[in-house]
Amino acid sequence: MNYEVFIDGDFYDEVEAPSSADACRQVFDRLDGHVGEMQAELVEGSDEPGICPACSGSGEGQNEGSRCHYCKGRGEGSPL
Ligand SMILES: [Zn+2]
Repeated sequence: MNYEVFIDGDFYDEVEAPSSADACRQVFDRLDGHVGEMQAELVEGSDEPGICPACSGSGEGQNEGSRCHYCKGRGEGSPL
């Protein structure tokens, strides 16, 4: 599983770890303890996270000028 690790609210790195605590520990070890407040968020297992699968991110529907019915024209896929 991949986790995005944030330090003091800023994105630092993406690491592969079995849990969010382990992801934090990996970064903690790498920085030799010189870190602020850490937070790890799970990255969903997808090759193209956030891209709408119906329109491939264009936000357009099948007809020209129409919006994608799946993402409502945002171009982002958010499985409901
Ligand atoms: Zn779409």
